[in-house]
Amino acid sequence: MQSESLAKLQTFGWAYQSITFLAAIAIFLVDTFTSLETAIAVLYAVVVMVSASFLNRRGILIVSGACMLMTVMSYLIVHGGTTHSGPLIRGLISLCAISITTFLALKNQEATQNLAYQASLLDLTHDAIVARDMDGVITYWNAGAEELYGWKSEEAVGLRMAELLETTLPTSLESILDQLQQTSRWQGELLHTRRDGTRVVVASRWSLHRDKQGRPVATISTNNDITEQKASEDALSELRSELAHVARVSTLGELTASIAHEINQPLAAVVANGDACLRWLARDVPDLKEVRLSVERMIGNGQRASEVVKRLRALARKDRPSRSEFTMNEIVEDVLPLLEREVFRHCVKVVLELELRPLSCLGDRVQMQQVFINLVMNAVQSMSNVEERSRTLTIRTRNDDADSMPAVLLEVADNGVGIDVEVANELFKPFFTTKNDGMGMGLSICRSIVEAHGGEIFAGPAREQGASFSIRIPIRNEAET
Ligand code: ADP
Repeated sequence: MQSESLAKLQTFGWAYQSITFLAAIAIFLVDTFTSLETAIAVLYAVVVMVSASFLNRRGILIVSGACMLMTVMSYLIVHGGTTHSGPLIRGLISLCAISITTFLALKNQEATQNLAYQASLLDLTHDAIVARDMDGVITYWNAGAEELYGWKSEEAVGLRMAELLETTLPTSLESILDQLQQTSRWQGELLHTRRDGTRVVVASRWSLHRDKQGRPVATISTNNDITEQKASEDALSELRSELAHVARVSTLGELTASIAHEINQPLAAVVANGDACLRWLARDVPDLKEVRLSVERMIGNGQRASEVVKRLRALARKDRPSRSEFTMNEIVEDVLPLLEREVFRHCVKVVLELELRPLSCLGDRVQMQQVFINLVMNAVQSMSNVEERSRTLTIRTRNDDADSMPAVLLEVADNGVGIDVEVANELFKPFFTTKNDGMGMGLSICRSIVEAHGGEIFAGPAREQGASFSIRIPIRNEAET
């Protein structure tokens, strides 16, 4: 394909040069051997202009000199011995036209060369720089683009970029163009296909170029290959979620007694209601109204047990992180029943201060439940040696939409041993623990989950005594899907 287009270019070049040469001869013949009373030689200016497109500075000067010489020769051949002023003036006008055209052609060539030099500087960068017109047709393709995608500039220029690279956009084209129109800028990650068919992930930055009237005329994009970086990020996030899963399952192990109780309670109620049901039926006149009530209670309790099992299975399952809408109140309500027994076993009183109109956030519900479980378990453990006051666990949820980043807050506060100032900065680091049987992974996993949700986690002293851990997650953005 490349040699084909080069051959085409060469053929065009030869045709151009031959036509220009023939035109010069034709002008000379008409000027010398016809009796037209016009300054035919002025047309040599066209020959100079055309030759500037394929000759260098020296070549242009030679062509210009030859044209002037032919003008003088024609004059001498036709009007050699006479001194008529008309032909002389016409000859001088032609010479002037040739000189001015030569001067302008040289100037123009110099400016073009300067531009070409400046454009060639763009070839020095490793970034792929591509310019395209408003129809998406490529008008410039630097060496970085040749290297990244595999097509030479002369092959890519003139083709539609989106079709050539089979671009996959991160969002709809309309929303990107909207942003480009409004801010003249866009940046994001794109998926492109190289000449050899391999896919490449690029970090792309687009700028809209406008003319003097402010009309958009071109889009310039700078693309960097981030395929490897993306692959390692994906591998890292895979590892993180594996680790989070292991931690979650091991926490569930610690909660076995609590969970067993949570399931056992409704099952015991089912049995008790079943007994009652049989008694109502065994009467001389069976009390069907009471039977119905007992069966309804059995169904209710059965559903409660199945609900607990469902939540447990969700926590134990090894799913890829998913995104759904939830409120912090829901997280508390989902998980608290599983922890109730544990809390009770440690003689801890739970105080709930939940937001009345909770705003939603977007993220992985199970991961957020894991964060909450970790915080509650830590809080309960921190109070296990407290004897002189009643152990209290306070759970607060709150909308925090006053800030520039509207968010929802979940706070877990205890009145336990509190946080030692010396270790306050260490708490969220992996493997930091002050417990004999601790792993030191809980808070570090909480932090990575919260940060993956665009939020933050922080610790501090509780209002009176003990510690308080809070997470802050941005509320769901209406534009998010
Ligand atoms: P682990 O529970 O295995 O120690 P974490 O990462 O969950 O790991 O906690 C790290 C450390 O942070 C704990 O060992 C403890 O010293 C401290 N910590 C966590 N929560 C509390 C709390 N509510 N009160 C006091 N210290 C806490």
